[in-house]
Amino acid sequence: MRVFNFAAGPATLPSEVLQQVRDELLDWRGSGMSVMEVSHRSKAFIGVAQEAESLLRELLNVPSSYKVLFLQGGATGQFSAIPLNLTTPESTVDYINTGTWSKKAIGEAKRLTKVNVAADEAASNYSTAPGQGALKLTKGAAYVHYTPNETIGGVEFPYVPETNGVPLVADMSSTILSRPIDVSKFGLIYAGAQKNIGPSGLVVVIVREDLIGKARPGTPAVWDYKAMADEGSMLNTPATFGWYFAGLVFKWLKAQGGLQAIGERNRAKADALYGYIDASGFYRNPVSKEARSWMNVPFTLAKPDLDKTFLSEANAAGLTNLEGHRSVGGMRASIYNAMPLEGVQALVAFMKDFQRRHG
Ligand SMILES: *Cc1c(COP(=O)(O)O)cnc(C)c1O
Repeated sequence: MRVFNFAAGPATLPSEVLQQVRDELLDWRGSGMSVMEVSHRSKAFIGVAQEAESLLRELLNVPSSYKVLFLQGGATGQFSAIPLNLTTPESTVDYINTGTWSKKAIGEAKRLTKVNVAADEAASNYSTAPGQGALKLTKGAAYVHYTPNETIGGVEFPYVPETNGVPLVADMSSTILSRPIDVSKFGLIYAGAQKNIGPSGLVVVIVREDLIGKARPGTPAVWDYKAMADEGSMLNTPATFGWYFAGLVFKWLKAQGGLQAIGERNRAKADALYGYIDASGFYRNPVSKEARSWMNVPFTLAKPDLDKTFLSEANAAGLTNLEGHRSVGGMRASIYNAMPLEGVQALVAFMKDFQRRHG
């Protein structure tokens, strides 16, 4: 039996896609083998790769002046790849610190170039996003980096920062494809696949063409955007299964009505959950209202000694992986694209019942 899996990542995937993958696993499109056993240089696989890219371009309306790369090493690899490709040791880069993932990105960038922290939400214990006016941006910075959605804290920017011509770099790992965005506002967007795209092992980079081709000497070829773009992300063997899977997820998203429709659905899911939490008097979300994530909803119980009971009863009810990140405790429900509204409704019904019995 499939459960409603609220894990933050690797996360739930669309059942329809999993079923299709199962159906064609042993004999992929009449090849007599699985897609994992097919050469990445074969015509058939290159077709899969190109179709995935064009579907992603269509969904996000990516301008033709951007390269779309399908790489490995996760979002964490990009924490280093970005400064390696976009800076020299003497550059200054601006980073906005809104929590755990921003901090990790800053830590890696500091090893490679000069980092100015343009805003740091420590004072609110990372429960807020800074306003545009609070950003202390550097004139002539190589780029401005931010984390539109902090997966652990559940903090999401309600706006896209204005950087006055400085390339904006966004770690969209846990929010990409959750609603329409204007890609032209960004210099570079990157996202690990295991939240809203597919299985882990793949990281998608969408980068404006004029920013590539200036990687530092010593940059590993697999993270040199120009080298990878020139080879169609196949300078070496790509994550073929993940790429194929991502293409099926993009097709699924299109069949759902695209990002406008999925965005409306995501908003309804988030509204249902936050609405109940706020009204309950028993559960609490610590994030300031305007910065609440549509994808990751942390919450605490009025009686923390009930946490374990809550989790075990939820598990028994088929609602899994609700434990908060080890660094913050409490609960967290991740409600990515593939989590249906029924999953959120089942969670709210369970929370109501739990409150009635234990509150
Ligand atoms: C999950 C996540 C990462 C880390 O991704 P890896 O693929 O494990 O490197 C980085 N940033 C954000 C915002 C994430 O949600």
